[in-house]
Amino acid sequence: MSNVDDLKSHVVAEVDARRDELIRISDTIHAKPELAFQEFEAAALLTSVLEREGFAVQRGVAGLETAFVASYTSQKGDRPVVALLAEYDALAGLGHACGHNIIGTASVGAALALRPVLDQLPGTIQVIGTPAEEGGGGKIIMAEASVFDGVDAAMMVHPSTRTMTRRSSLACYDLTMEFFGQAAHAAGSPDKGINALDACILTYNNISALRQQLTDDVRIHGIITHGGSAPNIIPDYTAAEFLVRAAEKDDALAVLAKVEDCARAGALAAGAEVSLTRGKKYYANMVSSAVLADLFDANLASLGREVQLPLPNERMGSTDMGNVSHVVPALHAYVTIAPEEVAGHSPEFRAAAVSPEGHAGLLDAAKALAMTAIDLFSNPDLVDVAWEEHRTRFG
Ligand SMILES: [Zn+2]
Ligand SMILES: [Zn+2]
Repeated sequence: MSNVDDLKSHVVAEVDARRDELIRISDTIHAKPELAFQEFEAAALLTSVLEREGFAVQRGVAGLETAFVASYTSQKGDRPVVALLAEYDALAGLGHACGHNIIGTASVGAALALRPVLDQLPGTIQVIGTPAEEGGGGKIIMAEASVFDGVDAAMMVHPSTRTMTRRSSLACYDLTMEFFGQAAHAAGSPDKGINALDACILTYNNISALRQQLTDDVRIHGIITHGGSAPNIIPDYTAAEFLVRAAEKDDALAVLAKVEDCARAGALAAGAEVSLTRGKKYYANMVSSAVLADLFDANLASLGREVQLPLPNERMGSTDMGNVSHVVPALHAYVTIAPEEVAGHSPEFRAAAVSPEGHAGLLDAAKALAMTAIDLFSNPDLVDVAWEEHRTRFG
């Protein structure tokens, strides 16, 4: 048996030895869902465990109270730096229906399993706690604050209904539209009014017509956040928020420009003024490192998990891990915890995140993360190959 195999057996045994503790941590986070940037108890729980086991913990990273970086560096040298990302935010009204309790705990579990063997190999293991994946874009803020500079590989595992390592995600822009008209009595003097709601509804319908001319990967969806004040007043102000997504950034940007034209056309038809504000948080598409995915595939297979390829017409959302993947070689793997008919962001998926299948997924995710880190620490050439691949893709 090679040294690498020995070390992998060791980290797998370490995760198994911590089985009850890891399940308790995951279930505790699940039982107390906390929303974006308010994940105080989850962050405190995860950092206290890491600190107790010898990790140096930095809290309040990038100006975010619930973000953290926990590090342990080998006595043999500090590179490569392998970062395991921890999410722990919940969904409004639905609790942990995306299973982020498993994500955070799996990364911490892997780090705890790696620490006792890390002094045998050069390298640094980090757990990076990234708040607010669901809408707040914690990783986007952290990437802008250079938190991932110096990292050689960033990995995380998301619970799912399929086990995958190469699934992408959509690039996503958000757009706020405001329409300004002229208030008037809706019955007594409608001719003196300018209807901002008409501008908004026409915009909505313009976008519906636009969809026919778009490629299959594009998604445009939105809501009217302000539709007027009273039915007897011609609305002088309306507003809507839209998300525009596509497989690639440039395509998403091109569609975004067309959506903005839809709004200008709607406003023009109604005689209203329009104000368009692009959001500050752009979710980049996920680009998986083939080097990391290959290693992860082999490690999942050795744990008895069959890895599936994304479907040709794979349906996807967006994740702030995409932004990390544009900065450093990255992996956003998925591990099955529920049957395929279960939808993400549903009460059924929330239940799966604390089920026996959820616990099994948590432990296998921790093992595969730790085993892949062993691959990288014991063969730093792989890190160079991953970086070469990354630079070819992003320049
Ligand atoms: Zn989600
Ligand atoms: Zn999620």
